[in-house]
Amino acid sequence: MRALSHFLLLLAIAAPVSGGWLHEDADIMGTRITVELFHPDPAIAQQGVDTVLQEMRRIDTSMSPYIATSELARLNVEAQHKAFGISDELFALIQRSQYFSDLTGGAFDITFASAGLLYDYRKAIKPDDSQRRKAAALINYHNLFLDETGNTVAFSKPGVRVDLGGIAKGYAVDRCILLLQELGIGQALITAGGDSRMMGDRWGRPWTIGIRDPRDAEKMVAVIPLMDVAVSTSGDYQRYFEKDGVRYHHIINPKSGDSARELQSVTIIGPDATTTDALSTSVFVLGLEAGMKLIDQLPDIDAILVDQRGRMHYSNDLQPARKPVDSGKPAAESVAH
Ligand code: ADP
Ligand code: MG
Repeated sequence: MRALSHFLLLLAIAAPVSGGWLHEDADIMGTRITVELFHPDPAIAQQGVDTVLQEMRRIDTSMSPYIATSELARLNVEAQHKAFGISDELFALIQRSQYFSDLTGGAFDITFASAGLLYDYRKAIKPDDSQRRKAAALINYHNLFLDETGNTVAFSKPGVRVDLGGIAKGYAVDRCILLLQELGIGQALITAGGDSRMMGDRWGRPWTIGIRDPRDAEKMVAVIPLMDVAVSTSGDYQRYFEKDGVRYHHIINPKSGDSARELQSVTIIGPDATTTDALSTSVFVLGLEAGMKLIDQLPDIDAILVDQRGRMHYSNDLQPARKPVDSGKPAAESVAH
């Protein structure tokens, strides 16, 4: 894996840079956004931070399922009845989602939403079995008809719904990195909830990403030094409730409309955050064996899985010599620090 060889390389080079580092947190897209970046000109560094927050807000306004006027919300209403024209950007992200559906044998499926919207994790609400089965019958990414000529999407039947929650944050992180590159910024970390991407180094050292213990928010199960990669973690501890000893959480198996329960957490490392975001959700659904098999077939993608017994599993390229250092240090979140 690229990241760790970069780490060794970096230990040999120069003293840390100084000045022009900025750090800002904000709550956007229903999650915590963190920006950390460097530019020798403080005005450009500030422009970088402002650009990132603005871009996150722009994407939220267009892709949030919770904002009634968002393009995504309008698509969900209009495409029930007819082919509905959408922006190039939304169309491209839906196409990208369909690509991941094909790649993962349907584990990733943005039409999970017909079942997903029956859950309210804060209020501990879930569908009963018959409601769940009815909704699950509507989940199938082939129920979306995409027409590139007019950028239109039509649903095959009423009741189909789309939600980009498994990919939009990663996409937003990638967009922000691109905008920073256009500003001439080459050192940055951007995090949106469980999705991060880093550029360059941090004070002459790699960034470090901690993977939190899925059953103890105060502990980390691993700390990984990384550069110029994206990392996403999906876990069953972010949004969930328990009922009769069963954990209901926000990652839905498209086949059943129920939460996927084989793993506790999935961390994916790869070249861009759209990919790692989609794959972390996908591998969570696929489970240990099928998930790891997929990752080991994909060049440039690595995975760290925590199973239901809390055991760690590493994809081929991460083990055994390159296995990240385990750490018992406490951490606040599964993000860089
Ligand atoms: P987070 O949103 O907490 O970063 P993930 O990246 O793991 O977490 O994505 C979980 C989100 O993905 C859910 O909140 C939901 O919006 C969406 N989702 C859930 N199940 C699926 C699925 N099978 N395919 C695609 N998206 C999904
Ligand atoms: Mg994801």
